[in-house]
Amino acid sequence: MFSNKEKFKESFCKRLEMLYNKSLAESTARDHYETLGQMVREFVSNDWIATNERQLASTGKQVFYLSIEYLLGKLLRQNLINLGVEEVVEEGLNELGICLTDLEELESDAGLGNGGLGRLAACFLDSLASLNLPGHGHGIRYKHGLFEQKIVDGYQVELPEQWLKSGNVWEVRKADLAVKVRFWGKVESNMENGRLTFHHLNAETVTAVPHDMPVIGYQSTTVNTLRLWNAEPSQFPIHDDILKYKRETEMISEFLYPDDTHDEGKILRLKQQYFLVSASIQSILKNYRKQHGRLDDLHEHICIHINDTHPVLAIPELMRILIDEEGFDWDQAWHITTHTISYTNHTTLSEALEKWPIRIFQPLLPRIYMIVEEINERFCRELWDETPGDWDRIAGLAIIADGFVKMAHLAIVGSFSVNGVAKLHTEILKKREMKSFYQLYPKKFNNKTNGIAHRRWLLKANPKLASFITELIGSSWIQSAEELSQLLHYQNDTAVLEELRKIKKENKGQLSKIILDKTGVAVDTHAIFDVQVKRLHAYKRQLLNILHIMHLYNRIKEDSSYSMVPRVFIFGAKASPGYYYAKKIIKLINSAAEIINNDPDVGGRMKVIFLENYRVSLAEKIFPAADVSEQISTASKEASGTGNMKFMINGALTVGTLDGANIEIRELVGDENIFTFGLTSDEVLHYYQHGGYESVGYYHHDSRIRQAVDQLVNGFFPGVYNEFEPIFDSLLGENDQYFVLKDFAPYADIQLKVGETYLDTIKWQKMSLTNIANAGSFSSDRTIKEYAEDIWRIKPL
Ligand SMILES: *Cc1c(COP(=O)(O)O)cnc(C)c1O
Repeated sequence: MFSNKEKFKESFCKRLEMLYNKSLAESTARDHYETLGQMVREFVSNDWIATNERQLASTGKQVFYLSIEYLLGKLLRQNLINLGVEEVVEEGLNELGICLTDLEELESDAGLGNGGLGRLAACFLDSLASLNLPGHGHGIRYKHGLFEQKIVDGYQVELPEQWLKSGNVWEVRKADLAVKVRFWGKVESNMENGRLTFHHLNAETVTAVPHDMPVIGYQSTTVNTLRLWNAEPSQFPIHDDILKYKRETEMISEFLYPDDTHDEGKILRLKQQYFLVSASIQSILKNYRKQHGRLDDLHEHICIHINDTHPVLAIPELMRILIDEEGFDWDQAWHITTHTISYTNHTTLSEALEKWPIRIFQPLLPRIYMIVEEINERFCRELWDETPGDWDRIAGLAIIADGFVKMAHLAIVGSFSVNGVAKLHTEILKKREMKSFYQLYPKKFNNKTNGIAHRRWLLKANPKLASFITELIGSSWIQSAEELSQLLHYQNDTAVLEELRKIKKENKGQLSKIILDKTGVAVDTHAIFDVQVKRLHAYKRQLLNILHIMHLYNRIKEDSSYSMVPRVFIFGAKASPGYYYAKKIIKLINSAAEIINNDPDVGGRMKVIFLENYRVSLAEKIFPAADVSEQISTASKEASGTGNMKFMINGALTVGTLDGANIEIRELVGDENIFTFGLTSDEVLHYYQHGGYESVGYYHHDSRIRQAVDQLVNGFFPGVYNEFEPIFDSLLGENDQYFVLKDFAPYADIQLKVGETYLDTIKWQKMSLTNIANAGSFSSDRTIKEYAEDIWRIKPL
């Protein structure tokens, strides 16, 4: 049905009639979207079924990726691209008077994630399928994804997101594959045939219904599965209050928690975690039994990967099934489990290390708690045998301590692989945060630097650049991103550099239309587009950026002839609804924008833009138009970052601290092709340990800082009396925990250098080209190959 334009048009119209009983003339754009989506699903169904059968028949190893978040974005065009039918469809639709881009606008972003962690999971799915690897995702089918952000009067307002409002054409509900998940109740143990057995009594049962989505690889016949679980009441609830039970059950898959680093101490969150894990493991094992019978060598045939600690209950859940349902003894079950589970650590921020109070954990998951207790006791006994009497060491490493279950400790003890997400992050894990665990299990620790789906972030998001690259070096880079390095041959080809500049300018033109449309501000595409888009967090230091912008404004006001290379500063960021400080920063950015954009003295020298509701589909329009990528986290705090890679592959130059993967970007492009500044992670960690930083000194001795910081509280912002006092206090009263003032001067210096460099167009374009050419190793294909070879031991099918 996609083999040529004529066939496509015919199938399309036929299906449209069949589905809606409407002629083309009567039908709506939504009808067209739905029709096309269904055609794609039917088109892949053969390959999807065949992939499943191949995998069932194969004795090779498979991986199951468990993640509480998947930030997928829109799927229609990416699916068409991966199937190789984008052109046929786009042209065919055109001839029917339908615009594919309009249909895409109707598709909701599948926003089942907060930011980097969820987007990583989505990129990994693309790479697994494109590399023909047997790897499936498991997640939760949240009814409402991450909230929709509106900016009202400069403040963030959150609206519930409604991605399922018009249905989800990509999913297939599989009611017959539903499983039951048990909460609450109590555990009774009996001796049966000389063996202690456990029974979970009076449990409240929730039905988990899988909704499968096809994951279509790029020009491959592999169609993997993303299985999203929906929580539904069980058919015959033995319950006094049926309505309450129904409501509480449905709540489990109602909302994604909108907090991406703070440990969210909500019982519902723990329920979600166990729901995901229990449903996934039951379903994985059900298939496994069909394929292999007994579970004795489970670990030789499958690997279960947990994305951060949210799915760490996979460890006790697998133990539970092996022991209680399959009759294994503890040691056998432990051997299988610890050879099946692998774990990725995403952060060293202490506030983000999950821990659950026993008083919540134990009653909700009584049998799972017993197993965690047993794991902890055996682990502590081992520690004791190694270093008898060293209570401090044991208390520091224990899984249960001070009334809490420490999820990262459980993950490390119960898995065979622990990986960090960038070289620096892994080193910090080994040398500092998880040092004692590293000494205990040195072989478990390894690094897998994050990556991005370059087919989404370059091929799909930046079609002009993608076509030009293909013109220059052929299309092999689409499957093998390392081939981008061939672009280095054109470093001194001024025609190529000029064409790159033209493409960037066109992309900036497209973004400026969006900016005008959304904010009413006209921006000049000759200006540097200087972009910081990511979640709003103190450690990501949007504050450093905006204070520097305020300083530039002050310079202009003080000297009307102050000359600077024109800039458009662009922000996009959601703050967690309960994160008071982050919301203040959003208001500050908008308040500064209001003043600067409306001051005639500024002229064309700068504009400040805050684009509301930053999400995948908006990101795809921003990265291709960026000249400068702001990656200015306090060194040691950003585990990897992936936004930095998306900018790089689109030819933006990085202004960044030596943090996360920025360091690896620098290694690849060389110091002369990146703008780094500020404290190193060692310096930051040294200050934390030994003190010696006093922010007040920087305030007093740098008049630029003093002026901008004073403006937070001296009435400079009209009508927001006291609004920014918490920010002022964080910088001076609380001694600036994120070293904003300390890094201010080096940041201002490097920004001057950015401006100067931009004036030398050839030099800038050459730097840009060098960045694109070296971005291939940040393809998630590379990352996934490393996971496949070093951790999962899976092979293409
Ligand atoms: C890539 C991405 C992120 C992660 O950005 P960082 O700069 O690495 O924090 C967050 N949100 C969206 C929508 C993304 O596409």
